Amino acid sequence: MENSKKELKVKKKAVPLKGMMDNVMEQFNSAADHINLHPNIRKILSITNNEILVNFPVKMDNGNVEVFTGYRVQHNGALGPYKGGLRYHPTVDLDAARALAMWMTWKTSLAGLPYGGGKGGIKIDPSLYSQSELERITRRFTYALADNIGPEHDIPAPDVNTNSQTMAWIADTYMSTRPPALRSANQHVVTGKPDGSGGLEGRDRATGFGVYLTIKFWAERNDMDLSGKRFIVQGFGNVGYWASLFLEQDGAKLVGVQDAQGSIENQEGIDVENLFSYTQKKGGTVMDFPKSQLVDKNDFFAIDCDICIPAALGNQITKENAPRIKAKLIAEGANGPTNVEGEKILLERGIIIIPDILCNSGGVIGSYFEWLQNRSGEIWHLEEVLEKLRKKLNGSFNRVYNYAQNECVDLRTAAFCIAIQRIEKAYIQRGIFP
Ligand code: NAD
Repeated sequence: MENSKKELKVKKKAVPLKGMMDNVMEQFNSAADHINLHPNIRKILSITNNEILVNFPVKMDNGNVEVFTGYRVQHNGALGPYKGGLRYHPTVDLDAARALAMWMTWKTSLAGLPYGGGKGGIKIDPSLYSQSELERITRRFTYALADNIGPEHDIPAPDVNTNSQTMAWIADTYMSTRPPALRSANQHVVTGKPDGSGGLEGRDRATGFGVYLTIKFWAERNDMDLSGKRFIVQGFGNVGYWASLFLEQDGAKLVGVQDAQGSIENQEGIDVENLFSYTQKKGGTVMDFPKSQLVDKNDFFAIDCDICIPAALGNQITKENAPRIKAKLIAEGANGPTNVEGEKILLERGIIIIPDILCNSGGVIGSYFEWLQNRSGEIWHLEEVLEKLRKKLNGSFNRVYNYAQNECVDLRTAAFCIAIQRIEKAYIQRGIFP
């Protein structure tokens, strides 16, 4: 059989996102201490409910078969069905999925949604596969997950390297494998679908819009005018692009961007739409964008700016780069971008962090709207969706900000305390079966 191009390519070795579980556990324990969480509930929340690992074969374009490993971790379902993204990345493993699923539990609880937390994905570098291979990989992964997902049980959504197309394949595969009478009742097995296939108008921008809104809410509380403020973004994908666009529309200036290939800077400003069109022509990367200078990857977070938005992977702000960060405000578009040591340094330096479970919660709130829409057969339009999102996020932001002020804690601890207390209440009311 002819060798595939992929076999000739050298696969990049993924550096595991070490310690994400340590980070989320330390964040959880410090909030649990603050609210004096009941020890029994601490035990329950310290561990995941279910961990699903599937190995599944897929036929490649050249006729060869490859076996992939996929994961779905369901952390806690006390408040409702598990909810959280599917990531296609070489760093996906059980440890990363566990940590990300836990963050989802706190995020959905904080947002007041009727969901628990889950996360998963496939250990894969999707850039090495054709579109038709990715379709077969996604469909076979969905088939392998079988009844471990479902519209009232566990509802995946897009994450790093997955998008509305991936969700459409999952929905179609899941629906196609149900009994005929139940097919259309299962469309909301995933959210983040394209808007012609049960998707929500505006779900594409919901996370980035939410990142922008939380920055705006913080700025309003602190008499800061966003106009003319300089910001940098790590990750120019779904979250980074939309957050940048909304900030730019409010007068702020993008001065630095980093993606998986490298970093660029221009203190005069980088036009967000121009950069986006450029990345579409250049295979997704910002590298060599005209009128910008290349920046060493290790110097990215030290770029002079007012606001920093990590919107790529976890564990990016660490004790190595935290001392050099110039921004006064960090808005966590990504999940878990700041590790515990990095955060300690930032807080000592008086740098404000809008925590991930608040900052990027616009995505799961948008997903909830899509799920509701599918269940009720309603169709909402963009303006209505963005207004509903603004109201919901404003409520979450105010609760977190006020709690932090009243209890003299940082915003992350405040957000975790509120989230954990809602789950604690459910356990206290229901008790433990049997
Ligand atoms: P995406 O795949 O659309 O974009 C990811 C971006 O990060 C790309 O620009 C990529 O080049 C860049 N990147 C990857 N590795 C990098 C590295 N090592 N250094 C610098 N840049 C790197 O993903 P997304 O959906 O925008 O998600 C980004 C983050 O936001 C993730 O942490 C995700 O969990 C989180 N998040 C996403 C959503 C959502 O709705 N998509 C919701 C909440 C949180």
